[in-house]
Amino acid sequence: MEKILVSSCLVGLPIRYNGSDKATDVSIISKWKNEGRLVHICPEVSAGFPTPRPPAEISGGFGIDVLSGNADVFENSKQKVTDLYISGAHMALRLAQKNGIRVALLTDGSPSCGSTFIYDGGFTGRTLAGNGVTAALLEQNGIKVFPDTQISDADAYLHGLEKQPNQAPEPTVFAVTSRAQSSTSRASEDRGSS
Ligand code: SF4
Repeated sequence: MEKILVSSCLVGLPIRYNGSDKATDVSIISKWKNEGRLVHICPEVSAGFPTPRPPAEISGGFGIDVLSGNADVFENSKQKVTDLYISGAHMALRLAQKNGIRVALLTDGSPSCGSTFIYDGGFTGRTLAGNGVTAALLEQNGIKVFPDTQISDADAYLHGLEKQPNQAPEPTVFAVTSRAQSSTSRASEDRGSS
């Protein structure tokens, strides 16, 4: 049976930077849980961050750039926390690989779990199209990542995988990212570490 890696805050655990959760479509999450498919992790808490914790954002690039040493993650106090974010990403990857996982549903906007957008590093609420550190590492290792806004698509993809042989995911080769692919503003309560 195909399993799916899910951000722990989407399952309802109150472990976001501000102590809240991001509980989402309960019916699909519950279905995955009842079917024995659900594997969840919070990369930030796994890496040792407390809850609540200061908000953090990637500065100078995206998750893929953090992994290659070309960007960093900073808390709003300017404390550099890059190493812990990379550590959490590797913990998530190891858990996924241990369970033979080929698909993930992660909370968008997070410097760890974001997959379609992250915040721009200025703590102003502005966003950029791009991914966080954990999402980038999973995708580098061939795991398909869906944002929490696409839970039905993730479910369909999951069931589609069951019609295919269970092969190890193929690593993805990334092109060099540009710093500012697009930007917009979002509510400050969604900002930073989630
Ligand atoms: S979005 Fe943030 S709180 Fe939720 S699992 Fe990812 S790192 Fe943890």
